[in-house]
Amino acid sequence: MTRRWCLWQTPAVPATVAATTAWENWARTASASPAGVVRPRDEAALADQVARAAAEGLRVRARGAGHSFTPVAVTDGLQVDLEHLAGLEAVERRQDGTARVTVLAGTRLYHLHHLLGARGLAMTNLGDIDRQTIAGAISTGTHGTGLRHGGLATQVCGVRVVLPDGTVRAVSVDDAPGSPERELFEVARLGLGTVGVLSAVTLEVVPAFWLRCRERPERLDAFLEDPDAYAASADHAELYWFPGTRSILTIRNDRLTPDDAARWGTERSGLKGRVRLLGQEVRGLVDDEVIANGLFEVANRLATAAPGLTAGINRVSARALAARERVAPSYQLFCHKRRVRFREQEYAVPRAAVGDVVRELAAWHRRTGEPVPFPVEVRFAPSDDVWLSTARDRDTAYVAVHQYVRMQYRRWFDAAEAIFVAADGRPHWGKLHRRTAADLAHHYPLDDVARVRRTVDPGGVFANAYSDTVLGAAT
Ligand SMILES: Cc1cc2nc3c(=O)[nH]c(=O)nc-3n(C[C@H](O)[C@H](O)[C@H](O)COP(=O)(O)OP(=O)(O)OC[C@H]3O[C@@H](n4cnc5c(N)ncnc54)[C@H](O)[C@@H]3O)c2cc1C
Repeated sequence: MTRRWCLWQTPAVPATVAATTAWENWARTASASPAGVVRPRDEAALADQVARAAAEGLRVRARGAGHSFTPVAVTDGLQVDLEHLAGLEAVERRQDGTARVTVLAGTRLYHLHHLLGARGLAMTNLGDIDRQTIAGAISTGTHGTGLRHGGLATQVCGVRVVLPDGTVRAVSVDDAPGSPERELFEVARLGLGTVGVLSAVTLEVVPAFWLRCRERPERLDAFLEDPDAYAASADHAELYWFPGTRSILTIRNDRLTPDDAARWGTERSGLKGRVRLLGQEVRGLVDDEVIANGLFEVANRLATAAPGLTAGINRVSARALAARERVAPSYQLFCHKRRVRFREQEYAVPRAAVGDVVRELAAWHRRTGEPVPFPVEVRFAPSDDVWLSTARDRDTAYVAVHQYVRMQYRRWFDAAEAIFVAADGRPHWGKLHRRTAADLAHHYPLDDVARVRRTVDPGGVFANAYSDTVLGAAT
């Protein structure tokens, strides 16, 4: 029986309950009709709502910005939207300029950049977009690129998490290794929302910095000759390859020292500098809005209407790539606006395997001529020690395949998945894949994860069908 969730009123902090509960993710690959949706005004209201739902036998799932491609945020129980739990709670600075900052779990990353920037701080690495909430982003292992800078969960040093009975537990990296608190921290900082609803996240952040971004069209074969050298050629290197061509766009982001950034700031403060800056901004707008979004949408619609033209479209897209160089605050160059909707599958493969993986994708594509107007993306990450991190215990390369939202993606994604799996790849928890807990057991300490889940959530309040599939049922 489907129940609608009753409208709770806590006199001081009324919960807001959505009139309609239907929900769909950004990529239109997952939808839900939860029994209810609540938007708690503060942590106490959140704790109260979680406890009441659990007591009534409802499952509970927090939702972030809906930017996962997998049904990871889906529930038929209570969906918790933390849009009111946003903002900065505390900043603890150190002498060296780094800091620990505590932010409320529903804070969007684009909001966080400004909160941190206003205090001379920044996250050390970010993914490709900043629409996500901080809790949603860490929960699926969102990452960027760079040989020395890990994914977002590696930047988390503490969380507050609401358990089924409404208690709020603060756990952190400072808890004794092996203690129940430390183990809860491990699954809370990257655990698909399966140990509770995060109300706050504490991050290790660094002094605000600028990046120099160099984009260049290059040949795929040059990358394939020595992928490691490419990965090491910048602090944050990534590339896009257009299937059906031998062309890639390389993107090298290097962190500027404060002196370099200041010199650049001085140069652009004069009249000549301002004119150059204006030119750069106009060019950036044309590149980012017109080429990367507007024209790209047109190209994808054309490929949808006439799939046979896709190879030609890709050749034109690859030829349209031009070299450019920019300098800007880190978050502006890490993150992009993605207005053309797509589906994505991404696997973390051992870094040593990335050349072969890309070669095999190219060979499969050559054999089949599959219409794929979206590029393949390659990024890098250092080995880390987060229990459910896709980069756990091994140097990693990420290879992502995409498909335009109006085109069928199954053949391309299935072929790519077979190649990724043969390379011992691990799927991104938030991107489309077909792996199960049995497939993933040799990659992660799933028994430990299940033990922690059973301890804090014996009734499986925070489980859903996706977590049952990929982590196994914990009850
Ligand atoms: C255009 C686009 C670009 C992307 N780029 C990248 C990229 O560069 N790198 C990368 O790694 N990924 C990328 N992703 C994937 C995305 O970062 C992740 O899927 C991320 O989890 C989405 O965050 P969200 O806030 O939308 O969370 P949702 O997708 O809404 O939820 C994700 C998970 O977090 C849980 N959750 C949310 N809030 C809480 C909370 N308060 N407490 C407990 N659990 C919670 C949900 O229950 C769910 O399990 C991209 C996705 C899109 C659509």
